[in-house]
Amino acid sequence: MQENNHLLTVQDLSVSFFTYAGEVQAVRGVSWYLNPQETIAIVGESGCGKSVTIQTVMGLLQSPPGRVKTGSVQFEGREMLNLSPKQLREIQGNRMTMIFQDPLSYLNPTMRVGEQIAESYRLHHRVTRQEAEARVLEMMRLISFPEPERNMRAYPHQLSGGMRQRIMVAMALICTPQVLFADEPTTALDVTIQAQIIELMNSLKEKLRTAIVLITHDLGVVANMAERIYVMYAGKIVEEGDARDIFYHPKHPYTWGLLASVPRLDGEQNRSFTYIPGTPPDLLNPPAGCPFAARCRYATRACLSRFPEETSFGGRHKASCFLYYPGAEENLRQAMEGRQQS
Ligand code: SF4
Repeated sequence: MQENNHLLTVQDLSVSFFTYAGEVQAVRGVSWYLNPQETIAIVGESGCGKSVTIQTVMGLLQSPPGRVKTGSVQFEGREMLNLSPKQLREIQGNRMTMIFQDPLSYLNPTMRVGEQIAESYRLHHRVTRQEAEARVLEMMRLISFPEPERNMRAYPHQLSGGMRQRIMVAMALICTPQVLFADEPTTALDVTIQAQIIELMNSLKEKLRTAIVLITHDLGVVANMAERIYVMYAGKIVEEGDARDIFYHPKHPYTWGLLASVPRLDGEQNRSFTYIPGTPPDLLNPPAGCPFAARCRYATRACLSRFPEETSFGGRHKASCFLYYPGAEENLRQAMEGRQQS
């Protein structure tokens, strides 16, 4: 941690799920922070623990089977993990909100979208129906929704996928939250609509002064939004830094793989994860060493022994990989050569 005036600070957070099969260690000692009006991204494959982290931060972790084992979540100077359900409800949907991946399964098919946008505003503010409706119209205009007076009376199935995602954005932002979590907000959309939603979120962030935590497996989405990036793998952060560090000077072999899987505008789809064979480790019994070792072409015996300490590369850029340990220079040289040839 470099500054102490963060809006949100997650420190050494570990979360497990206690199942009949045993303890699934979904999040293992994760630390990150978010400054006011900043956009950060937490990036990693499905199952890496990014969504569980966010559920825990928002007080939405289902317990049991989930349980916070260690750590702290400080929001505006308060410990989120100690709040009562009533205190949490005052924050959820108001100071902290969330956009989900699939609007169709989240929106209520039997309610007009205008009523759904108004719902959290009426819950958190003492307003009349007319005042709530006026606020909904204001939000729909803010997001440049076509024909807002008419469309606020539409049902979700009468709108396109992109319009439904805009409704989700309006729902999340109607209370002018301090933090917006966006969990794969563009995954279900085609590329053109994806770009529109990213542009919309960027412009609303400026207008409403909301900080954003983007959760995604796709570094391509992150490129146009995030100022800082945390790369997560098997419940741990393996690399973090400013966006330019991660895109132009990535250090961790897993980040190299994620970058290689980003579709290119020239139509050439890189070989995706073909040069990272295998799957993430079973978090019922996570490996003692680097969790990426089984998929890493640069792994050595040292990688199997323990999790590597962070190496700092200047500024806020850090990665946990034995390639940057003293004595591993030849391995690093070969890895860099191999990366360039891939
Ligand atoms: Fe690969 Fe070893 Fe680095 Fe893990 S620590 S990413 S196994 S080189």
